Amino acid sequence: MLRVAPPARARKLAKVPFVELADGRLQGVVSSGSDVERVYVSSVTAGSHTVDCRTNNNRPCGGLRGNLLCKHLHALADEAVLQYGIAQVARYLRIDAGDGADSGADLLARTDARHEPGPAAVVFSRFLRHLAYLEVPPSAAPVPELHWFPATAAAR
Ligand SMILES: [Zn+2]
Repeated sequence: MLRVAPPARARKLAKVPFVELADGRLQGVVSSGSDVERVYVSSVTAGSHTVDCRTNNNRPCGGLRGNLLCKHLHALADEAVLQYGIAQVARYLRIDAGDGADSGADLLARTDARHEPGPAAVVFSRFLRHLAYLEVPPSAAPVPELHWFPATAAAR
């Protein structure tokens, strides 16, 4: 049986409802700061450190230009550090965290990230599949895909 790991620290689910280390990427969904109808799908590829950010309607994020990373990528990386711990995120993305890195933004600052279109549609459909578990009948058995919910809520 898979053990459901509680997040290393409490996360802000309203801001970043979905974050995962999967398919060789840090990827997830970040809420728009201004428009409740809009979310951004952001990703960082392990090793190459290419980044992508676009809306759920597949429009490029206006904040991601050249080597300038948008606030969604920073939010995603920060939440990943809360969820998995900085050592695991750095190891997965193959970033040399060195000394003094304690946030996702610190990790991104240690890469020479560049923009390259990513699989936003795949990431978004994974998010929707995770949401579908909200409609699973209540059960006391652990559902591994729900591990991104706070452990306190899952234990209730
Ligand atoms: Zn963005």
